[in-house]
Amino acid sequence: MSVEPGPGVLEGLDAWRRLPVDQQPAWPDEDVARRARERLAALPPLVFAGEADELKAKLAAAGRGEAFLLQGGDCAEIFEEATADRIRQKVMTVLQMALILTYGASLPVIKMGRLAGQYAKPRSSDTETRDGVTLPAFRGDIVNGWEFTPEARTPDPTRLLDAYHTSASTLNLVRAFTTGGFASLLEAHRWNRGFMTNNPAYSRYEEIATEIDRAIRFMVACGADFEALRHVDFYASHEGLLLDYERPLTRIDSRTGTPYDCSAHFLWIGERTRRLDGAHIDFFSRVRNPLGVKLGPTATGDDAVALIDRLNPDGEPGRLTFVTRMGAGQVRDRLPALVEKVTADGRPVTWVCDPMHGNGIVSASGYKTRRFSDVMDEVAGFFEVHRELGTVPGGLHIELTGDDVTEVLGGTEEIDDEGLARRYETRVDPRLNHQQSLEMAFQVVELLRRS
Ligand code: PEP
Ligand code: MN
Repeated sequence: MSVEPGPGVLEGLDAWRRLPVDQQPAWPDEDVARRARERLAALPPLVFAGEADELKAKLAAAGRGEAFLLQGGDCAEIFEEATADRIRQKVMTVLQMALILTYGASLPVIKMGRLAGQYAKPRSSDTETRDGVTLPAFRGDIVNGWEFTPEARTPDPTRLLDAYHTSASTLNLVRAFTTGGFASLLEAHRWNRGFMTNNPAYSRYEEIATEIDRAIRFMVACGADFEALRHVDFYASHEGLLLDYERPLTRIDSRTGTPYDCSAHFLWIGERTRRLDGAHIDFFSRVRNPLGVKLGPTATGDDAVALIDRLNPDGEPGRLTFVTRMGAGQVRDRLPALVEKVTADGRPVTWVCDPMHGNGIVSASGYKTRRFSDVMDEVAGFFEVHRELGTVPGGLHIELTGDDVTEVLGGTEEIDDEGLARRYETRVDPRLNHQQSLEMAFQVVELLRRS
């Protein structure tokens, strides 16, 4: 028995088309774009509504302090990099961080990737100029190519389908890893293969893995059943930016007759597209997934409450996550007003810290980077504010990779400006590398224990 959508629900999913819409590409050929949308609409969903509901319940728990969200992955995924090795390294990094946090803070950790769909990027300018040549800006692999040629930079709607298929194969591998035994806690001590250096974060990880191993062997000897440890729930998320992708992948859940955006479990609305009268807020208000909204230093308490009015009027727990990204210098000044206003409103939100996007700098040699110390300072400020106000720091949203890139300054490896050149690979924002990610997890354990 399938439940039909109520009156006006399907029409409502297209109401955004009459509203101001930011950050969309100008497709050169509308016929090709229409055919790509139609094809997407006919393809199977990438995730199921039931999984999104399950995640919503877990995010509600994070909002109450009974769980902690760890959301991490690339700033922008790249089609060519969706290889088994890279995906495995990334997933493993998130799992290792989650293990450190779970063990250190005795809290269930919700594991979520910025992956299997994180292909569209908002840009501050529509164009890029190099040596007097101006071309469309790179908007992510789902829109155009990175190469600085007119051919590559022209938006190509057939990329919508490439994004779908690459997301599907990524998700397939993630599901195989996380349910097929690879992510089993019984294997945690084996995930440290590849720790080549003497980084202190690595030796601490090995210690934890050994302790967990011993505890598990003890319990196995006692006859405990470990089925639950063999499987990990790993959720997919991306910025819900490109509406020509999100709309066709939105489907009616046959259990309830309500729409879900089945491109990912969790979608967030970025700092640049969260205007209240805009297309993104209207569209996402109509799907039932758990949603995030980024809030930068200019957001006010009234903005936050207005977003709750639009996206979670009934105060459903777990529906709305505010991902604050204030910058280390501003988080202690700006965050309290938001939290106070939202707390007074009473409808629940889950507060998550993105310590990446408010801390961008350009290094002396010209790299777009961030300082690890600023990143950690924003996380510390986020915990301090919530501790003072008696509210809950519910999670972390970070840009990371499982590879040994050199994109963020500092960490115990002490990557300096010269070091950035060694392996700077990102096409958009700088990511924590594998060691820096584990270091962060150890530092966050200390903060969680105090909160
Ligand atoms: C991002 O998450 O990569 C991003 C662009 O963030 P924000 O919307 O917070 O600037
Ligand atoms: Mn980014």
